[in-house]
Parts: sequence; C-alpha cells; structure tokens
Amino acid sequence: MANKTAIAPVRVLPEDVVNKIAAGEVVERPASVVKELVENALDAGATRIMVRVVAAGRRTIEVLDNGHGMSEQDAHLAIERHATSKIRTAEDLENIHTMGFRGEALASIAAVSRFELVTRRAKDAAAVRLRVEGGVLRDVSQTAAPEGTRITVNRLYFNTPVRAKFLKGVTTELSQCLDIVQRHALAAVGVAFQFEHNEKLLLDIPEQATLRERAALLWGRSFAKELVDLDAKRDGFHLTGLIGLPSLTRSQRSHQFFFLNNRPIVSRSLQYGFEDGYRELLTIGRRPVGIVMVAIDPSFVDVNIHPSKREVRFRDERAARETIQLLVRERLAQLTETMRAETGLPPRPVAFAQPMERIETQRAEPLAFEDVFTRPEPGPSPVQTEFESPEPDRGSEPGQVAPSPVYRRFGQHDDAPLQVFGTYLLVPDEDRLLIIDQHALHERMTYDSLVAELQDRDYEAQRLVVPILLDVPPSHRQLLEKNLDTFTRLGLEIEPFGGNTYQITAICHLYDAGKASDLVYRVLDALAQGDLFSREDLMASLLRLTIEACRGSVKAGDRLTTEERSGLIEGFRRLRPPYTCPHGRPIVTELTQVQMEKSFRRRQ
Ligand code: ADP
Ligand code: MG
Repeated sequence: MANKTAIAPVRVLPEDVVNKIAAGEVVERPASVVKELVENALDAGATRIMVRVVAAGRRTIEVLDNGHGMSEQDAHLAIERHATSKIRTAEDLENIHTMGFRGEALASIAAVSRFELVTRRAKDAAAVRLRVEGGVLRDVSQTAAPEGTRITVNRLYFNTPVRAKFLKGVTTELSQCLDIVQRHALAAVGVAFQFEHNEKLLLDIPEQATLRERAALLWGRSFAKELVDLDAKRDGFHLTGLIGLPSLTRSQRSHQFFFLNNRPIVSRSLQYGFEDGYRELLTIGRRPVGIVMVAIDPSFVDVNIHPSKREVRFRDERAARETIQLLVRERLAQLTETMRAETGLPPRPVAFAQPMERIETQRAEPLAFEDVFTRPEPGPSPVQTEFESPEPDRGSEPGQVAPSPVYRRFGQHDDAPLQVFGTYLLVPDEDRLLIIDQHALHERMTYDSLVAELQDRDYEAQRLVVPILLDVPPSHRQLLEKNLDTFTRLGLEIEPFGGNTYQITAICHLYDAGKASDLVYRVLDALAQGDLFSREDLMASLLRLTIEACRGSVKAGDRLTTEERSGLIEGFRRLRPPYTCPHGRPIVTELTQVQMEKSFRRRQ
C-alpha cells in the first residue's frame, strides 16, 4: 500500500524528553511545585518557610527556608533525576518518614521552568547558586545567602506550552497553592509559614502558634472556639488534633483535614470513619469539621503510591475506618458528658448566622446582567473576568428556541391532584397517569422563578438590621473579593468587615437568611475547586446552590393542602422541558393506559 505509514524504529528517548514526561506527572500545576518545595523545606528541618508566588505561580514560585541547606556537590545531585538523600535501599521504602523520597521533584520542576537554587549550609562560608533552564544547567556560581535554601521557579511550562494551556484561572490556581500551604501549616506546628501573592501577604503563621491558633488564623476565632482537642489511642492508631463540635458543620468536606505521620493526605477510610463518628449527631447533608492527625507505624500503610497524589491506602482499610470512628465517637461522647455535667445543656450551636430582622426595603442597583440564562453567548462576562477558561463556552446555538411545554393540556379541571406517600402527586392525563415528585417539581419552580427574577432585573435585596458575619479563610478571600458582584447579582450583598471577616448586609427575599452564609461558603468552595468553567456553568451552579438556600422548599414527605397541590400542578403545566429538577433528577414519570391495560391482561 502506497501511503502506509513507515514503522518508526525504537529509540531510547533523549533525557530531556524523559524529564519532560516525568515532569508532567509531578508538576501538574503551580500548586504541585509549591507542595514539593515546601515538603523539601520541611524535610530539611526548616522552622521558617516563606512561599512567594506571582501571577498564581505562572510567573514565579519561590520557596525560602532556613533548613540545613546543601553542599555544592549535593546541590548538583539534587537536580539530577532519582537523586535523593532520603532512601538508599528498597527496604527504606517501608520506613519512610520524610515527605519526598523519589528524588525526582527538583529535576522535574527544573525541566519545565527557569529554575534557580541558592543554598548554604551553616558551616560553609558562601552559598552556591545553580541556574537551570528547561532541564539544562546554565550557570554555577557562589553568592552570599543566609543558611538554608531558596528555590525560585520562573515561567513554569515555558517550554511545554500545551501544559500551560491546561492551567485554570488565576483564582483557582492561587487557591490551590494556598490550600497546600494551609495544610502544611496545620501539619507542621512549630514551623512558621508565610504566603505572599503578588507581594501581598495572605498568610502569616508564627512559629510558636499552636494548632488552635493556626485554625483561628485561617478561619477565624469563632470557628476555632468550636473545636475541641482530640488525643486518643487504640489498636496502633494515635489520633490527635482538633475536631468540631456537632454544631460546627459545613455542607461540604471543605474543612476536613487528615494527616498521616505529619503529612497531609487523602483517605476515604479516614474520612468515612471520621464522619461515621458523628453519625446521628448531625443533620442530614451536614459535614463535620476537623483537623485529624493520625500517627501509626509506617508499615501499616502502602507507600507505593503516585508521588504527587496524597491518597494513602492502609494495609487494612476497614480496621482503619472503624478505629477512627470509635475514637471520634468516644471523644464526642465524653464531650456531651462534660457539657451536661457543667451546664445541664447539650452543646449549643454558635452558627455564623445571627438573628436578623428586615426593615427598610431597598431597591438594588439594576443588574448589569446579560441574558445569560436563556442564551449564553461566548466571550468574557463580568462574572468571569478572572476565569481564563480553557474550554470554549458550551452555549446553545444562537437563535435556538426553548422547547415548548409538553404537559399543557392535562389536569385542566378543578380537582386537586391526589397526593400519595406524602411525596408524589398523581394526575390523570388523556391516556396516561402522571406521577410527579413534589419536591423535585418545587425545586425546579423555585429555580425557574429565580432565573426569571434575576433576569427581570428587579429583584429586591433587603437590608438586614443585623448583618450576618462570615469568617472567610484566606484561601477564599481573593475568590470572594473577585466575585462580590456575582453575589450581588444573586441577591446577596457582601461587604468587608475587617481582616478575614465579611458581612452579608442585604439579601434577596427568596433566601432563608439562616442559610445565606452557608450558600456563600458553598459557592466559594465550588469556585475554589475550579470546576466552574464557562459563564453558563458558573451561573447554573450558583443557582443550583442557591435553590438549596431558598425558603419554603416543599420536601418529600410534606403533606400539602389542596391549594398547594393545585399550585404545584399549575406550575408544572407551565414548565418547559427538560422535566428535571436543577440537580437533574426527573420530576415526572408516567404510567400509560396501554401499560395498565397490559397489566390487567386487557391487551396483549
Ligand atoms: P526527594 O525530596 O524525593 O529526595 P527532590 O527532587 O525533591 O527529591 O530533592 C532532591 C534532594 O535535594 C533531596 O533529597 C534533598 O537532599 C535535597 N533538597 C531538596 N530541597 C532541599 C531543601 N530545601 N533543603 C535542603 N536539601 C534539599
Ligand atoms: Mg522532595
């Protein structure tokens, strides 16, 4: 065949290619660089670590430490692949106590950046400086520097432009970097951490700050007040840390931190065990909060995991989960005991939301809002200026017309529909029986009316007499600041209150004030996770979260009055397809006359 592709000969890849490939694994994003460098600093025994990033790490990531530094010879080795001072033999792998051990982080980072290493040991007169560009050693010199190490990573991915394209927006990458530093700051009590972005100090944790003080610096005093100490042992596990009172919850797992032998980790078993410990103490859908340090013999753990992943597998996952659960449960039980003894009361929730009343009704500024709900158009939006979307907007075709309602004719009579199992409404249509999920339907109606309300630009945010205070972690502050106008558009007016505290000063009447702070946290978490790409995604997600903060939602299991039932059906008739709730669950299912006839053998 003429145009058959020639078979390429097998070749050993040149080293720089190997390095670039490996770099892809280790250096997924700026936050991975921060992670590796901070871990190295900790491994070097540093008690002060400063992380500086510029443009969320795309331009510069610099980590300074006062650790033991390196000799000139070690500095050269450090940037070689598989050079590590931390293991020598395969058996050592079983007994790892340090953070990194594969000896590939620095080589990988240096392969995809303009890299500089300056390091000095206490006994050396001068520091050594190495400069590497895209994996090629460019320059070695001596310089003056304090004891310790400074690594500067400029122009990450300058030679791998495809990878650079996968980076998310500044806010997302930045909050990931901050997250890493935060986790280490919690794990390494005794070490001072500073984090600077574009020369602004975002995090400043002194060396002597206790774990509780660290939590207070990160999430505010009121948060820290609701944490209790944990120190318990069982079956080879030793748990320490701080865990939340059952009154301190979040709707997501954003404030659960697990550490194993002082390294931040992710583990399903720990997480489930921890949550199991709170079972029956929390309302459905609420997540407990905790900073849980687990100390166990390293041989209980499978270390052969991906270097940049934090996932840990225990040799016996079930035992780990059960042990955590028991220890957490025991601690909470003690707590209720002491509480009862001291006050005669159960632990009282100290929620962020404070009692509020509404007085003057204030008209909000007209929304500078495009028609994003019905027909998203490509291009930047005011909401999204900070989102450098790697994906094109997935909007519908311009001019596309919304599908018309399918269920328009049915139930045009006075009888209210029958409600069964406290959850479903039964409505006969021409040749079928419609079975409607009242909760799903109500959610959808609320969603639609919210969309309409925001679109009409005449919603009213009502001023709160007593503003609701919000403690926002430093990692989310920037996100909040950047998106204040998004919140305003959603009917939540938020203003800075000083430090990490913000206040909700006005809310749209659709919201339940008691859930407003939670809504803000959830939106911020969603933004921080960076899964909101397009403007359309962003708005849809915000609205979905918003619905849950809406007042007076009809729940499954609610008995409804005749009027309520008729009202729902009226709303249903006006719905446009798809017939799903904002979370994508179906609203309606049908039993056709044909199906019934078949069941009764009236028809084949
Ligand atoms: P690993 O941490 O897996 O050993 P790295 O590539 O991260 O591999 O680092 C290679 C080696 O460089 C380390 O083993 C350590 O000896 C040395 N090193 C790296 N960073 C520092 C630092 N901040 N201070 C002192 N030594 C360091
Ligand atoms: Mg390392």
